[in-house]
Amino acid sequence: MKKWVLCLMILVLLGFGVTKFKASMARTPQDETQPLEINEPYNADSSAAGAEEGLTIDVTKEMVYQGDLLLVNKDHPVPKGLHPDSEAVSLIRNAELIDGFGVLDNKVLLSPQMAERFTAMVKAAGKEGINHFLISSGYRDEQKQDELYRQMGSKLALPAGYSEHNLGLSLDIGSSQAEMNSAPEGQWLKKNAWKYGFILRYPDDKTAITGIQFEPWHFRYVGLPHSAIIQENGFVLEQYMDYLKEQQSVSLKVQGQKYHVFYYPVSKDRTLQVPVQGQYEISGNNMDGVIVTVRE
Ligand SMILES: [Zn+2]
Repeated sequence: MKKWVLCLMILVLLGFGVTKFKASMARTPQDETQPLEINEPYNADSSAAGAEEGLTIDVTKEMVYQGDLLLVNKDHPVPKGLHPDSEAVSLIRNAELIDGFGVLDNKVLLSPQMAERFTAMVKAAGKEGINHFLISSGYRDEQKQDELYRQMGSKLALPAGYSEHNLGLSLDIGSSQAEMNSAPEGQWLKKNAWKYGFILRYPDDKTAITGIQFEPWHFRYVGLPHSAIIQENGFVLEQYMDYLKEQQSVSLKVQGQKYHVFYYPVSKDRTLQVPVQGQYEISGNNMDGVIVTVRE
C-alpha cells in the first residue's frame, strides 16, 4: 500500500516537472534578445527511468576541438581537419542574409547562423539610432588567410590556421561613418555586444596576453552566458579559459536566465556526470577539455 502511494507521488512529481519544463520553454522570448543555440536538448523522458539528479553526457576526444568556445591564437591553431564553417556563403550573393548593415564586398563570407546572430545585435543598436555597421571580413578559408598573411606581413596578419577568422566565429566590423574606435558603432558594440554573445577579442589593455594589437573592429562570438562573464570580469578569451579551469563550475543569472558552466578535462572518451539539469550545449576549448553550459 505504502509502495503504491510512493509510486503515485513520484508520478505526480515527474508530471509536474515536465509541465514546468514545458512552461519555461514556452516563455522563452523570441524577440531580438539572443537565444541560446541548444545542440542537444535535455530529454525530459530520460529522467523518468532513472530519476537521477543531473545530466549524463558521453564525450569523445574530438569534442575538445569543436564548438563556439574554441580558443585560437598563436599557441593553439584551428584544429587540423576541422572545417568549421563549410556553411559560410558570400553575403552579397545571399542578400536575404543582409539586414540592417553594409557589407564591404562579395568576398565577405559568413554562415547564415552567424549572419543571424549579427543581425540580432545590429537591430538592437538600430533602435538606439546606431545604424552604420559595415562587415569587412567574416569567415576566411586557409587559402585566403595565407594570401592576407603574405600581403600584410606578420605584424598585421596571422598565418593560415592561426586566425580566428578561420573558425568562422569572428567578424571584422566597421562603421561607414568613422574609424571604429571613435565611431558610435564601435562604442555601442564595446558596451553592448556581450548581450548578443559577442566579445571584443583584442582590447587595447590586453595585448600582452592576446599577442595581438588593439583591434576595435574584431568581434568574436562565444555565446551567452560566456560573453557576460567575460565582460563582467574584463577578461579576454585566454583568461576566461584559465578562469573556468580554476573554478571548474560557475553559476550565474543573466537577464533573468539561470546558467551553470562546467569545465571538464578530456584526454580520452569519457562520460560526464553534470550535477544539474536543464538544456545544455557543449564546446571544446581547443586545448584539453570541454565546457558544458546548462540553461536551467
Ligand atoms: Zn579580424
